[in-house]
Amino acid sequence: MRSVTVFGATGSIGESTFDLLMRQGGRAAYRTRALTGGRNVARLAEQARALQAEIAVTAYDECLSDLREALAGSGIEAAAGAEALAEAADRPADWVMSGIVGAAALVPGFRALQRGATLALANKESLVTAGPLIMQTARDNGARILPVDSEHSAIFQALLSEDMQAVERIIITASGGAFRDWPMDRLAEATVAEASTHPNWAMGQRITIDSASMFNKALELIETHEFFGIAPEKIEVLVHPESLVHALVGFRDGGMIGHLGAPDMRHAIGYALNWPDRAHLPVDRLDLAAVGSLTFRAPDPARYPALRLAREVMETGGLAGAAFNAAKEVALDAFISGRIGFLDMAGVVETVLDRMVGQGALGKGALSLDMILEGDREARRVARAVVEKTGRT
Ligand code: NAD
Ligand code: MG
Repeated sequence: MRSVTVFGATGSIGESTFDLLMRQGGRAAYRTRALTGGRNVARLAEQARALQAEIAVTAYDECLSDLREALAGSGIEAAAGAEALAEAADRPADWVMSGIVGAAALVPGFRALQRGATLALANKESLVTAGPLIMQTARDNGARILPVDSEHSAIFQALLSEDMQAVERIIITASGGAFRDWPMDRLAEATVAEASTHPNWAMGQRITIDSASMFNKALELIETHEFFGIAPEKIEVLVHPESLVHALVGFRDGGMIGHLGAPDMRHAIGYALNWPDRAHLPVDRLDLAAVGSLTFRAPDPARYPALRLAREVMETGGLAGAAFNAAKEVALDAFISGRIGFLDMAGVVETVLDRMVGQGALGKGALSLDMILEGDREARRVARAVVEKTGRT
């Protein structure tokens, strides 16, 4: 029987993963080692009971007693906090979903790789923050990473049995997010509610806002570079409002292989869950005659400064990815809580990067997990100070 662990089980990726596990036989087909979540302990307990998990872990200590109560009589263990999350990763699941949002997914994913697990990586921040270390840890321990971000799953599938030497370019598509057709002068006043609606995908709030600002695509540029080991200048972003072509790979003979599918994360998650097989998945089938046409356009650099910042980060290397992601997380929190405007987010991130480059704080060469975690903390400190100065009074 296959054994599984799902980090971030109560989130958007986590719920889709749970849905597939249940459809594919649930507790009769999978031994669930651990499920983790945040404050929604009622839902976490429900999922843990349905899959008869060995342990349920909430990220927050103050939620532990509620989780215990919700699990009473089930025989399922309850735990809380960052160390408990890391320990959950040590439990011997063959397949681990990394579905936590943000850099908090880094340590659990790292620990799962250290024991040679297959890591289904939805969390893009892990590769942005610690790409070389994550990839090296997987190689050193015979672990496997299966990308779950839709673009990266698409690239992975387009590259099946292809030679990386023959790859000329990789194109990741972007919907353009909530504001793709807004006049630029309205963006400064965009509200959190407006930024939290996605034209095509139903996702967690943070990634949805990141889609509106293109920080999501910026993270994905770096993710593509780290995971596929391809030079930054060979990676392109293409705005594709229909979100049906997820990525394209161009080869040196001029041909391209693209991946199409309905905008439903259960495709990429189900692909990773069943890899190397393809299982029947409950996603809509595309009716291209009904769709009629697919459209593409180049991203406007003035509208999406995050893309330029991602390219600078790839050039800088070292801790730049960790600083970029950490500053972005702080800026996003500040936007969500109303302390800065929508357009201020990119400004905050750029100021943090400039400052840390100026201080020589981004280093070069191989980085340990501790160095990365310290870089992440330092960037958050700098970003909070920058937010204070930027903030609305
Ligand atoms: P979400 O906000 O819906 O869910 C996040 C999950 O992580 C929840 O279970 C939450 O309780 C948990 N969590 C939040 N903060 C935590 C912390 N500090 N410590 C431990 N657990 C914490 O997010 P999501 O949209 O499901 O995204 C998850 C990850 O997958 C992100 O990295 C995102 O970029 C990536 N991703 C998501 C989608 C999507 O369709 N939602 C698509 C591609 C990639
Ligand atoms: Mg994506």
